[in-house]
Amino acid sequence: MKKVINITVVVVIVLLLLTGCNKIEEVNSKISVVDEVYNKVEETNNIINKKDSKEDSNLKNPFEKIDLSKRPNEVGQIMILMYHNIGNKESEWVRTVENFKRDLSVLYEKGYRPISLKDFVNNNINVEAGYTPIVITFDDGNKNNFNIIVKDGKKIIDPNCAVGILEEFHNQHPDFPLEATFFTFGKNPFRQKELVEYKLKYLIEKGLDIGNHTIGHNNFTNLDSSSIQRVIGQNVEFLSSILKNYEVNMLALPYGSRPKNKENEVYLKKGEYNGINYNNIAILNVGWKPSYSPIDKRFNPYSIPRVRASETNVDNVGLYNWLEYFDKFPQKRFISDGNPDVVTVPKKFEDIVDKDKLNGKLLYIYEEKE
Ligand SMILES: [Zn+2]
Repeated sequence: MKKVINITVVVVIVLLLLTGCNKIEEVNSKISVVDEVYNKVEETNNIINKKDSKEDSNLKNPFEKIDLSKRPNEVGQIMILMYHNIGNKESEWVRTVENFKRDLSVLYEKGYRPISLKDFVNNNINVEAGYTPIVITFDDGNKNNFNIIVKDGKKIIDPNCAVGILEEFHNQHPDFPLEATFFTFGKNPFRQKELVEYKLKYLIEKGLDIGNHTIGHNNFTNLDSSSIQRVIGQNVEFLSSILKNYEVNMLALPYGSRPKNKENEVYLKKGEYNGINYNNIAILNVGWKPSYSPIDKRFNPYSIPRVRASETNVDNVGLYNWLEYFDKFPQKRFISDGNPDVVTVPKKFEDIVDKDKLNGKLLYIYEEKE
């Protein structure tokens, strides 16, 4: 537009020079001709602008690149896996090294990719198109979760502990991100007192997460409000004293317990102890089933079920049972559209989407071709 005005001014000046300032009438008529030309130019410009903005919106269409042939369904279910120990002998709460490695391979082959628990609850899901996010959690912070062998003064991560196995698998399969949350309790997480600080900082630096499992693996059933705040807050106080810039804001309930007095449930989420305020964004149950998608109306971040990653005493609701279920009913499974800014959902599931949970993302509903 500036150009047009400039041209007009130049034309007017040229006309004035040509005609002389005393021939006012003539100049006026010349100016009206200029005005006409100006209007024409403006009209043309508007057409160009319209064309431009059309092209722009086409370029910016975030839905254009979504591959619907991969049948994305971002309101599908996601498994939050619960592990405890990695050990030599398989049992209800122990996964052997071989079995844990097999779990990772099977998940990888079946198109599951780890995301962080924080990204899960915040609906910040960034997984390649056609793949399914999964969250890996470990409870109790046992030594076999993260064991360090000191050899000739050098710290080596035990290749048979959970961290060692996860790192090795990630190195072999870079498209299987290193993501897991370790829920620890007490002042000696991972049970090597002199290495507590080293280990906690190492995990956070690697992008892994630390969650709260109370100060003493406490059962919440009979605790009053101040005790609940103490057992949660004291563990936050300890972990935060080492991890200064890291927020410990996810809680796994020991024994899956909740206060019998329902009025005290609120303190699982929020509370204060010794000047430490905590505000949990996720509360995890022991559970036996996959979680709803974080944009599902039924999703409750303060009661997230988990799937037991075991094959012993799982009552047909362990990891391998659910893998079989999702193989059989793939439409139940969360399938990523590959675009973290867009939430893509088949029309038939539109009703279960909670639009308030989109967290700034665009919702794309599409009709599936059967
Ligand atoms: Zn526990």
